[in-house]
Amino acid sequence: MNTRVRQRYLDAMGITRWVPRADSLDGLTEESVIDAVQTRAPGAVTEPPPIPVSTEKGGVSGNWTELETAVRTCTKCSLHATRTQTVFGVGNRSARWMFIGEAPGADEDRQGEPFVGRAGQLLNAMLFAMGLKREEVYIANVLKCRPPGNRDPQPQEVAQCEPYLRRQIEFIRPALIVALGRHAAHSLLKTEVPLARLRGQRLSYHGTPLIVTYHPAYLLRNPADKRKAWDDLCLAKTIMQKSGGDMATDLGAEKS
Ligand code: URA
Repeated sequence: MNTRVRQRYLDAMGITRWVPRADSLDGLTEESVIDAVQTRAPGAVTEPPPIPVSTEKGGVSGNWTELETAVRTCTKCSLHATRTQTVFGVGNRSARWMFIGEAPGADEDRQGEPFVGRAGQLLNAMLFAMGLKREEVYIANVLKCRPPGNRDPQPQEVAQCEPYLRRQIEFIRPALIVALGRHAAHSLLKTEVPLARLRGQRLSYHGTPLIVTYHPAYLLRNPADKRKAWDDLCLAKTIMQKSGGDMATDLGAEKS
């Protein structure tokens, strides 16, 4: 991508500090990056057990259409009573990159698509800065319904909604997952370890590489941490490049 075009875009979004250092991607091995960050964040989490098959207790069976129907008609938790509509997920179902947020906000609840508000605009800029287009990746949330007043997701809501996200991940089989914010990270990794100790290192979701970074809404409130988020995304790029290319979609692989 043309560096000057990207810089102009980032300037317009108010994230001028996001220009990568010459050394942040080129010439840096995945191992050296991971070593460096792990020195800062020792032994954050242990790897979760192998991915449960979807037909296990709490799992969801069926194809994409059945999954979409199950989400659209879900009444498993009280959030169904206050939602305008469910927010399933958006993007390329053969994507190598999957970005997972917390839950729909007011804009998403209205439009039925994840990350379409201000946080979504910043996520788009983050994707752009990584050389990715929104439509090339897959974007979903832990919760498919908006918590009233954008309150934090409650554990029983996460537990009820989790099989839907798990099934989406099984279908997409991304090469790398980026967990946006502590709720996504905690729910995927089954840990309570603070985000500051989870970010900046390669973790794993049942064998799929997972990077934790700050939620775009947090970055809007704390722009000084964009630099650290950029480092996380550079690490994600490095891991992706090592895992057989940096293509946005997995054109060769057969998907469900
Ligand atoms: N925040 C999220 O976590 N997800 C969205 O879809 C929008 C805002």
